[in-house]
Amino acid sequence: MTSIVVLGSTNMDLVAYVPRAPALGETVTGRAFRTIPGGKGANQAVAAARAGGEVAMIGAVGADDFGARLRAGLEHCSVDTDLLRTAEGPSGTAHIVVDDEGGNAIVVVPGANGTVTSLDHGDEALIGTADTLLLQLELPLSVVVEGAATARRLGVRTVLTPAPAQPLPPELLATIDLLVPNEHEAAALTGLTDPREAALALLRDVPEVVVTLGAAGSLYAVRGADPVAVPAPRVRAVDTTAAGDTFVGALAVALGEGRPAPEALAWAGAAAALSVQREGASTSMPYRTEIEAVFGSLGETEDR
Ligand code: AMP
Repeated sequence: MTSIVVLGSTNMDLVAYVPRAPALGETVTGRAFRTIPGGKGANQAVAAARAGGEVAMIGAVGADDFGARLRAGLEHCSVDTDLLRTAEGPSGTAHIVVDDEGGNAIVVVPGANGTVTSLDHGDEALIGTADTLLLQLELPLSVVVEGAATARRLGVRTVLTPAPAQPLPPELLATIDLLVPNEHEAAALTGLTDPREAALALLRDVPEVVVTLGAAGSLYAVRGADPVAVPAPRVRAVDTTAAGDTFVGALAVALGEGRPAPEALAWAGAAAALSVQREGASTSMPYRTEIEAVFGSLGETEDR
């Protein structure tokens, strides 16, 4: 079984479902409200665990009810939380509005996530046992840089989701094996709106890039070859929250199992397509058997 460590955020998602998102200064009436465990790190951890990976999480929850629920939720999904700290103060929260088109707008308040500024020996030892370290940008940059450098030193594959978008320091990029921006993050990082051009530009800094393209699928780029487009299954999206995290978690499992990159992207795309057809973040993530079923039917369509 492929072994994955996630160094990342845990948040409680406070989700309001609305006909349309309010403009600044406007109030709209929502039709439903839910609290759902989320955070990019925890989402990727759950996605990878459901996809069949053996997953452990490094990060922090707060000393509040949300923190207890976040930890229990991860454990329920078979994510090892031994090195998930409980920090003083509130857990991270994400305030999410989902409209009837399945689009979303999000405010993240880091809370406990902001207290994870460096690794300790236990974290290092855990990272050393993994095949892959998954990183995002919802923890302080200092620990993201340290985590990637540690993994690189220990021969562990590093996969960075550069979200929320921000400039990436060269010392971080130097230790990343695979960068997985969405098209907006790729444009923000490079100033190039064409995903193919952005991917090629990012290859100057990292050896492999996957740009996710929403309903259009994803693009795989590696140095020395033309980028390869991998289409997504055609589905009706009801909530795209955490589609990217589902994609990355499943991608880490597929790559860890030794699938060639384009096949791994298609497998991850099958997982993400399942997640956009359901509401919520971790609640929407598919299990391995479901992913295999969709992936199998993709092959059949191609054969005909
Ligand atoms: P995004 O972060 O929007 O680029 O989405 C990440 C991944 O989720 C994409 O690469 C697709 O594989 C999948 N995805 C997102 N939206 C859709 C959709 N409407 N239909 C099918 N797959 C989707």
